[in-house]
Amino acid sequence: MIRMEDVCKEYPDRRQQPLRVLEGVNLHIRPGEYVAFIGPSGSGKSTLMHLLGCLDSPSRGRYLLDGMDVSAMDRSALCRVRQEKIGFVFQGYQLLKKLTALENVAFPLMLRGVGVRQREAAALEALAQVGLRDRAHHLPAHLSGGQQQRVAMARALCYSPSLLLCDEPTGALDQHSRDEILHLLGSLHRDGHTIVVITHDPCVADHALRRYRVEDGRVSEVRCL
Ligand code: ADP
Ligand code: MG
Repeated sequence: MIRMEDVCKEYPDRRQQPLRVLEGVNLHIRPGEYVAFIGPSGSGKSTLMHLLGCLDSPSRGRYLLDGMDVSAMDRSALCRVRQEKIGFVFQGYQLLKKLTALENVAFPLMLRGVGVRQREAAALEALAQVGLRDRAHHLPAHLSGGQQQRVAMARALCYSPSLLLCDEPTGALDQHSRDEILHLLGSLHRDGHTIVVITHDPCVADHALRRYRVEDGRVSEVRCL
């Protein structure tokens, strides 16, 4: 499903040598796995998430997603891969304030040209998956933080991506809402979804079935005893 081979990411710096943010990253994630990447702030987690999510390309090395080499694709090809394969969940939910939960969830389907009836049916089903079928017509402001994040997860799920990619999905939440999201991630995993979570919170990482540590741009698997 996901394979990175000796991936390296550098950011150009006009005055000095390029800034190397990731170095020699090797990893393999199989379909249906639930994997966490944990590391302190500034260690390169978001950079790695941008690569995994095809939002950016590696400076060197190979990235295979579903058997396809995406490392050398141009921006429009990467955009198609994202639309087809990846559901994103971010710390800040990124919901549109003036749209209801249902309209927010249906939004990516509208961008893909899906008709109104079909996209509303798919959005309702995705809201049911996250336990918010009865909140479909609420605006984000009338939902709790945990519920807003669940709407964001429904939006990521509504086009059945092969990978659900979450960057600090509980970063803005209190403990109760965090547990709600962790519970939901566990149940999505049991339903067969492939889940990658990026976090600095050990409790969130402990919830996953396999963990990688990100430290100073190096990625290593955490072996359990
Ligand atoms: P994390 O998400 O773990 O906090 P990041 O991946 O955001 O870490 O950042 C890792 C390092 O890369 C930091 O030193 C950051 O300043 C640098 N960095 C991130 N994005 C860029 C960029 N677009 N250009 C230059 N440096 C960047
Ligand atoms: Mg980050």
